[in-house]
Amino acid sequence: MNHTRFLTAVSAARQPSPIRAMTDLLMRSPPSVISLAGGAPNPDTFPFKSASITLNNGTAIEIGETLMKKALQYSATPGVPELVSWLKELQKKLHNPPTLTYSPDKGQMAMCVTTGSQEGLSKVFDMLVSPGDNVLIDAPTYSGTLAAVKPLGCNLIGVPTDQHGIIPQALKEILSRWRPEDVALPEKKAPKILYTIPNGGNPTGASLTTERKTEIYKIAQEYDFLIVEDDPYYFLQFSKPWAPSFLSMDIDGRVIRADSMSKILSSGLRIGYLTGPKPLIDRVVLHMQASTLHTSAFTQIMILQLLQQWGVEGFLKHVDSVIQFYRTQRDAMIASADKWLTGLAEWHSPTAGMFLWMKIHGVPDTHQLIMLKAISKEVLLVPGSAFNIDSSEPSSYVRASFSLSTPEQIDQGLERLASLIIAERK
Ligand code: PMP
Repeated sequence: MNHTRFLTAVSAARQPSPIRAMTDLLMRSPPSVISLAGGAPNPDTFPFKSASITLNNGTAIEIGETLMKKALQYSATPGVPELVSWLKELQKKLHNPPTLTYSPDKGQMAMCVTTGSQEGLSKVFDMLVSPGDNVLIDAPTYSGTLAAVKPLGCNLIGVPTDQHGIIPQALKEILSRWRPEDVALPEKKAPKILYTIPNGGNPTGASLTTERKTEIYKIAQEYDFLIVEDDPYYFLQFSKPWAPSFLSMDIDGRVIRADSMSKILSSGLRIGYLTGPKPLIDRVVLHMQASTLHTSAFTQIMILQLLQQWGVEGFLKHVDSVIQFYRTQRDAMIASADKWLTGLAEWHSPTAGMFLWMKIHGVPDTHQLIMLKAISKEVLLVPGSAFNIDSSEPSSYVRASFSLSTPEQIDQGLERLASLIIAERK
């Protein structure tokens, strides 16, 4: 696949930063190499010496003096090499992408560590979306994505979804405005990308089935567009086997996948990773060379020490315990919704993630109800309109999260919501 036609003028114009290239080289050099290059400060002057971080299971990860110097120093832009290698093994085990080989010369696929998946995604949009482009996107969708894409001046085309995510037939109908041969004609503005959240969607809680993914991938081949797979709730799929990802189906090199450690290791440490065709990941890395330089090396080393101690099996065991927690929370929210909201609202029980998406009966726009009345009744929810491409468009939905509150609080919260809906409809 030739990825050049997908790039914005800004992305295509990016050149490597010579000093950054030197840092990457130095990271891979043996200790005998004397470096008089680069502008790295001397870590002996830094006030921090070492760290011991206690884990919930009583063990600890140690960052000794030598490692601490590495953690406090500038590092390679695509990520601390040992962490990138660990994550590549993980991707291979979980997704076995058809085009992922690990040699930088032969491989078509590449990875980089990002400061949360949000950084990776916003750089992917900056790389691919030009003013006037048509962009296909789940409707409704994550407000953080809308914040990153909307200012780029593109035309967002919402693809209708149900509890199983994007409806392939609806996607086909949207694309019937173009002929597959229009793809070669830039003036026809055939969509170049589809953005989707495949599991436990934010806000809808929807998860795409394997059949739908296969069908959507075929449509992407027919109309030659890229798929941006934003999958922060992948590790929060409540039942096994987990659905195969778009990355696992990607025989062409048209999928860019954003993963996140935010829901399973820490949201504040800001760790995510992108996996995708090397020519595209390279462009994101060039953008990072000119902006963040790299994700915090301390964060990366801390995570790396943990992951090396756990191994992939230990990591997946931890993921299982996190799933257990969210599944129980989901069950508690569904039980409370059944108890208080039956007849007042409708919903589907999510199979992944942390959100319940409810359509409120008899309330065509939930904005006032949630932003004024619910707040004064001391229950916080998000009105559905926050996730509409056009946020001034009314929505009869609300998003309730079951991540933070106890089952008792969830029960009280939904009881308060029920009384608000009853009062609203009187
Ligand atoms: N995408 C989606 C769909 C999300 O829900 C979130 C987090 N709320 C993100 C991206 C950003 O996650 P991160 O913390 O990895 O930047």
